Amino acid sequence: DPFYRQLPKVELHAHLNGSVSSETMEQLIARKPQLNIEHSMTAIRSGQRRTLDECFQVFKVIHQLVDSEEDILMVAKAVIQEFAADGVKYLELRSTPREETKTGLSKRRYVETVIEAIHQCKQEGVDIDVRFLVAIDRRNGTKVAMETVKLAEDFMLSSNGVVVGLDLSGDPTVGHGRDLLPALQKARNCGLKLALHLSEIPSQKEESELLLDLPPDRIGHGTFLHPEVGGSDTLVDKVCKQKIPIELCLTSNVTGQTVPSYDQHHFKYWYTRGHPCVLCTDDKGVFCTDLSQEYQLAASTFRLSQEDVWDLSQQAIHCSFAPEPVKQQLEQKWAKLRPVCL
Ligand code: IMP
Repeated sequence: DPFYRQLPKVELHAHLNGSVSSETMEQLIARKPQLNIEHSMTAIRSGQRRTLDECFQVFKVIHQLVDSEEDILMVAKAVIQEFAADGVKYLELRSTPREETKTGLSKRRYVETVIEAIHQCKQEGVDIDVRFLVAIDRRNGTKVAMETVKLAEDFMLSSNGVVVGLDLSGDPTVGHGRDLLPALQKARNCGLKLALHLSEIPSQKEESELLLDLPPDRIGHGTFLHPEVGGSDTLVDKVCKQKIPIELCLTSNVTGQTVPSYDQHHFKYWYTRGHPCVLCTDDKGVFCTDLSQEYQLAASTFRLSQEDVWDLSQQAIHCSFAPEPVKQQLEQKWAKLRPVCL
């Protein structure tokens, strides 16, 4: 349906290496034939189900394919162009800085390269505003988290507003938020915005209580926060009182089997309460989706009208980490693009 593609959209939860399209993946595979990687190892076709653990195996394969400055520049530019082609007007990309001894890549260079890709796209006139969230992989513990915050802080000050915040992600079965709390507090205090994966699996109740007191500026997934799925009223209260927007990724959650079916997705719980909800792709490459498809899926599953869908995309502007004047510019863009039939 062209309505969803033409709908101006805001993408706030997109992991760079999970967002690599099949076309770009073909190129990467062709560049590194010695790795013997097949395309089926880097993406999960729609309709297939994998455990969350299997999804995380996919990232390991992708990281082997994307391990140099040249690779990162290529994938970041392609991902930005693809989001723009899908009608995304404002994008917050997130990625975990990696060090690769084989190619001489440092974490600092990693971040610089993503920023360079953003600049190049802008110079080439791609119609999208892109910001960057530096990601902490929870498996790496306290020290690396602290170093990552330092790196993010440096770039927040030197990137002309491109680096706006921090993401906490990675395999939710590994590590504990309590060890990362000092780093996250430091980040908050220096003005970095926090987008944290929270309660992606049922066993993270205690961790979520802790992290919600920071508080985060946005929540990723939040699948098991509400009491109907084993969360608690305390958790829901914390989220509601502080009006913390939730990033919701339908295809990703159903494919990764943390949600049993689309109609049981927790979008319904939060949306019907009028809580700020933002539809996102998570990993458009790995899960073979795009943001238009996610909006269409939400609309058909939860019977949203075109007007509801429009409001949802417009509301996402205010959940972003963009500075106020940029939000106003986006509002104007939305006003100009609003179809007369709505
Ligand atoms: P990268 O940070 O650009 O390398 O993107 C891939 C990384 O994003 C993975 O290694 C994970 O750390 C993280 N990631 C992607 N999808 C998810 C998810 O659904 N939950 C938690 N972490 C994720």
